[in-house]
Order: sequence, then C-alpha cells, then structure tokens
Amino acid sequence: MRHLFLNGPVQNGPFTFDTRPGKAVGIRLAAALNAILGLPPAPHLWNTVTLAGDLRHREADGPRIPRQRFEADRIADKYPPGQSPAGGIMTDTDAEVVSLALEMIENNLRAGTLAISRETVPTCRSCGHMTGSGGHPCNACGSTDTRERTGLHLVAEVAQDRPVLDRSDIHACHRQQPKHLQHTAANVAGRLILSRTRDHGIDLSPLGLNGLVLDPRAGIHVAVLAAAQKQQADVAVMTITQNAANHIAAHGQRFREHSGTRLQYALHGHLPYDHTAGLQPLHEAYRATQAIKDGFEEWFLPLFSLRTKTATSPDQLPSLFKHYMRAHLAQPAEVNAAVFNAVQRAVGAGDTRWITNKQALANVMATRQAPTLSAAGPAHG
Ligand SMILES: [Zn+2]
Repeated sequence: MRHLFLNGPVQNGPFTFDTRPGKAVGIRLAAALNAILGLPPAPHLWNTVTLAGDLRHREADGPRIPRQRFEADRIADKYPPGQSPAGGIMTDTDAEVVSLALEMIENNLRAGTLAISRETVPTCRSCGHMTGSGGHPCNACGSTDTRERTGLHLVAEVAQDRPVLDRSDIHACHRQQPKHLQHTAANVAGRLILSRTRDHGIDLSPLGLNGLVLDPRAGIHVAVLAAAQKQQADVAVMTITQNAANHIAAHGQRFREHSGTRLQYALHGHLPYDHTAGLQPLHEAYRATQAIKDGFEEWFLPLFSLRTKTATSPDQLPSLFKHYMRAHLAQPAEVNAAVFNAVQRAVGAGDTRWITNKQALANVMATRQAPTLSAAGPAHG
C-alpha cells in the first residue's frame, strides 16, 4: 500500500474522548481518510513518555503497578466499554517501537547525523531531572536548586543545508503548502539534545546512556513509522496540528525515513467542539438523528479540519452543518465511481478541495457502510 494515515500520538493525559472530543480529531481524521482509500483500520497511537505521566505514576499506587500497565489502563479508560479500536492500540514504548528506534539511532550514529557527546546541561540537584535553561523550578520536584552537570548525551546536528521542514515533509498538494509553518519550524538551535531524564521511555542504556530515554518528540515519529511498516505502507502520513508539528519537527528530522518508508505530516486545525450545542435549532429543523449528528461531529468536522488547517470559528458551524446535510440528502443510491475515484486520488495527493464539494462528499458518504462510527473511533455512548 502506498499511504497509511496515522494519528500524531495523543498524550495520555487525564481526559476522556467524551469530555474532550478535540483530542480525538487526529485519530478520527486518519480513520476517515484510510476508509476512503479502502485501507484496513490503523492502530490508535498514544504518547506515554511524559513527565506528567511520571508524576501521576509516582503519586498513584505507583511503583507497585508496572508503568506499561499503568499507561495501558489509562488509555483503555478513554474508550467507552466494548469500543476498543478495531486496528488496536500502540504506544511510543511498545517493543517494536523501541527496537526500531534503536536501529534508527544506530544508523544515524554511523552516518554522523546523530552523535553521542559530552554535554553540560542544567540539572536539578535534588532529583537529577534535566531542567532545561531558563532558571525556573524543577518541573519534576519543584526544587530551585539546579547545577550544571556534564555527561554523555545523544545529540542531533540540525541539517543546515535544508530547512527543518520542506515541501516533501508535508502531505499537501502544491497550492496548499503552509509557508508559515516551514518558516517557524526552521527557527531552532543548530544542535539538539535528544536524550532526556524520564522514568519511562525508549531506554538509551544499550547505547551507554544510562538513566536516559529518547526525547518523546523524536520517539513519536518512530511510533508512526513502526505502525506504517507493520502494514507495509510506503508513506506514513501523521495527522497533526500546526502547533504540534512546529513543536516536534526539528527533533524528528532524523526519524522520518526508514528502509523505504517515509513519514509526512498532514496538518489539521482545531475544531470548536465547545460550541456544537448551538446547532440545536438546525438539528431540529433537519430532524437530525443521533447517527447524523455523530457523523457530523466525529467524521465530517475532522475532515473539515484538514481543509482549514487553522482554527474553525464557531460562526462557521451552522453553514458547515447545512453543507453536510445537503450532501447527506444528495447521497446517490449508487456511488458514482468516477467521482469517488477522483476523491481517492485527491486524498492520496493531499488535495482537500473535495471536502467542501457537495457531490464529492455525497458520494463518499454513500460508500460508508456502517451508520455509526465505531471503526472510526469511540462513538458517544
Ligand atoms: Zn527535581
């Protein structure tokens, strides 16, 4: 298969998809696009290498529950009972991600694009956490007592001969390339330390870096590549917001290609889920069923966020719902193969114009077999 869409790994924080539907946009968008391409459901990807997770685990019954299990239980809690994802769940510390990461790091060390070198970094004197520059209290324990500490670290030289993000890193057709992103993502230091102090992560001790893990901003790229390789995709397309892409792109620069599989970003915007209650009068006017409302919020709006890239305004919701309803009512009894194939080509090319075209959308809706979206992510329930 050529493309496989995968969500940018979601941080395993304290929320559920019912209370924070915005957290599921990347997952639902990837599912909607894979379904259009006729691909099997992809796994839902989760980011578990976080300082917040370290602290939650320490505070909870803590060390008595193995961390992997602790994270898995909290991921399972996000989904309504009996609705775990059809394509499974994968975290950024699964065994296949760890082994791929170590292989990629070793390849980069051989090529000279990563190095292990002695670095002096601000470190908390109380707990040993790397605090970063800026002189703020330690994020792990709150101590203000830091010191400069020298030790071995994994370091990336940011390539100077090309931008951190260029056109080929982004899954979008030429006219929809975000120039602004390429500019801001390039604004990073020339050297990046990719090793971090965390309780949990991709352990770098096999490389002689005891007590350090791979920076999760690099690790989530490896998780996406590992998931794509499992399904033999040539291009792993990570659904992600512009802000998040800006945050991880430099750290991921050496982790976007492995043995013929490459990673691209599909950028999407934020959605005004806090304002969907304002659609009530339109729901009544159209006599919209729960399945129709869910289809709008969990399938159409994520697709629309790919079209807009920046935030969708609450003011746009009524006209978007009308567009969705007009397409719903225009669904043909028999799918127009030429129209649908054109949409499939557009999805493969990163062209999003079909999403606001009534006839194209109506034909895509007509191909969707299940009236609910359980395969596309957790439904309301
Ligand atoms: Zn500390």
